Amino acid sequence: MITRKSKREIEKMQKAGDLLVACHKEIAKMIKPGVTTMEIDQFVEGFLAEHGATPEQKGFSDYPYATCASINDEICHGFPREEALKDGDLVTIDMVVNLDGGLADSAWTYAVGQVDEKGRRLMDVTKKALYKGIEQAKAGNRIGDIGHAIQTYAEGEGFSVVRDFTGHGIGPTIHEEPHIPHFGLPNKGLRLKEGMAITIEPMINEGEWQSKMDANNWTARTVDKGRSAQYEHTLIVTKGEPIIITDQD
Ligand code: MN
Repeated sequence: MITRKSKREIEKMQKAGDLLVACHKEIAKMIKPGVTTMEIDQFVEGFLAEHGATPEQKGFSDYPYATCASINDEICHGFPREEALKDGDLVTIDMVVNLDGGLADSAWTYAVGQVDEKGRRLMDVTKKALYKGIEQAKAGNRIGDIGHAIQTYAEGEGFSVVRDFTGHGIGPTIHEEPHIPHFGLPNKGLRLKEGMAITIEPMINEGEWQSKMDANNWTARTVDKGRSAQYEHTLIVTKGEPIIITDQD
């Protein structure tokens, strides 16, 4: 069901978003060669607990961790692990914070040490693609406008857009209707309305867009072993610029 959030619900989501951003800022300081994604996961779980919040994806469909940690050719839903991050890796940390029933969802790709030029460009284009989508997320526009803006930009830069995972409505649960694809046609799909809470979370690949599933039935990775990056914000649709609940700036 597609809900439109009340002022009070939006305030709760913003508090969750502020905490999520604070958590990402701590993660940014931790990221370096030698650290493990399991250490980051445990940090996140502790940080949220200290602030009276919980990691919403832990236990969601039996997902076992507080974060998803996707490295290099992993597109999304990578499991945190006891394996040191290496110089030159790209790692995406994705989490959903629940604070007093308010939810916020944001993924961010981090460079580990020195990343090569193409990897840095992949990160840069993916983040810009997110903001191209956000520009279209206003009341009266259609869902296809978001995906079209992202796809046109990312493909124009020589990268590809993952098709198998999308943004989504959020609250009261992690994944609500509607789906928000990061590709599509302008002026197609559901019309956006004021008060809708959605995520936009493009996963952009340096090679082909196709993904395959690992044996754990969670982790998706690129079929051609090319790297993938992802940036995600939770936002509230308004008549003007959306409210970015997970804004890091
Ligand atoms: Mn999401």
